[in-house]
Amino acid sequence: MISSIVLVKQVPDTANITGNVMQEDGTVNRAKLPAVLNHEDRVALELALQVKDQYGGAVAAVSMGPPRASDILRECLYMGADSAYLVTDRKFAGADTLATSYVLSEAIRKIGPFDLVFAGRQAIDGDTAQVGPQTAEKLGIPQITYVDAILGVKNRVLTARHRIDGGSEVVTCKLPALLTVLKDAAEPRPFKARRVMAFKGAKSLLELEKMAEGNSLLYIDKLVHEFQSRSMFIPTLTMDDLQLDPARCGVQGSPTKVYKVESVVLTSDGRQSVPPTKEGLGSLIDQLLADHILG
Ligand SMILES: Cc1cc2nc3c(=O)[nH]c(=O)nc-3n(C[C@H](O)[C@H](O)[C@H](O)COP(=O)(O)OP(=O)(O)OC[C@H]3O[C@@H](n4cnc5c(N)ncnc54)[C@H](O)[C@@H]3O)c2cc1C
Repeated sequence: MISSIVLVKQVPDTANITGNVMQEDGTVNRAKLPAVLNHEDRVALELALQVKDQYGGAVAAVSMGPPRASDILRECLYMGADSAYLVTDRKFAGADTLATSYVLSEAIRKIGPFDLVFAGRQAIDGDTAQVGPQTAEKLGIPQITYVDAILGVKNRVLTARHRIDGGSEVVTCKLPALLTVLKDAAEPRPFKARRVMAFKGAKSLLELEKMAEGNSLLYIDKLVHEFQSRSMFIPTLTMDDLQLDPARCGVQGSPTKVYKVESVVLTSDGRQSVPPTKEGLGSLIDQLLADHILG
């Protein structure tokens, strides 16, 4: 039996960007963007589900994000995750990778025990590829990065293949361990219709609080109990629930500052025609060498 936790991040749908979404302070106005489950995290979830299919156990999906990150957690349930956790608090806003990995590692400790933690190699918005490795470091467990295949688990030793410059390498590692997963490691399975029907009404604590707001007939404790008993509750973990050090969370715990974000558009000065002769090609190569494009 292998117990896995998969880190999933809600990211802007870069295929559908509209309007001015970058703010003056270099942060993204996520409220203005459609949001999706980071693709590599979907692949990481698929690998975790394959491990469960082969060895038994359970898979939990965990996301740190604003309340609407519940949407991607429901998607994880549709795919096959056994449980999903939303790690959320206004005080987590503006976190860099250091603060994010601190919060996630403490959430994992709280949710544990676990044998494997899966993360995508990188998120398509922040793009740093640091959260997985930093989380492993904080949990004090080994990590295998750039995994493109899990080859097996025997006697609590995992064998995986990971990409390196110019090839790949097969490595072994004792459990518990953290893996960061490449986008082509597996084909994510489609949602199961039965699970979509079962979990489309799954709700986080914040969503239940919203339901109860202004409705004197609904009591939040009763609602939580009802959703829990139907396995439709997405537990919510806040800074207080995790007993975190506020100085290590959010903006306060984030030494990285993004000062400016620029769109770089490459333009050309104009066209130049090269005669299809030996001399023409020779002068083109000389020019490319002089401009340091070749060489
Ligand atoms: C334009 C821009 C530039 C930035 N530059 C930096 C920078 O230089 N340094 C810096 O420290 N931060 C930076 N950030 C902030 C960074 O996006 C956040 O810290 C973010 O929470 C985590 O970093 P990442 O997106 O790079 O994740 P990555 O490290 O690329 O993510 C790897 C994997 O970790 C997991 N993961 C990451 N975040 C979460 C989460 N919230 N919940 C669950 N799982 C998660 C996922 O499995 C993901 O696939 C930047 C943000 C923006 C928008």
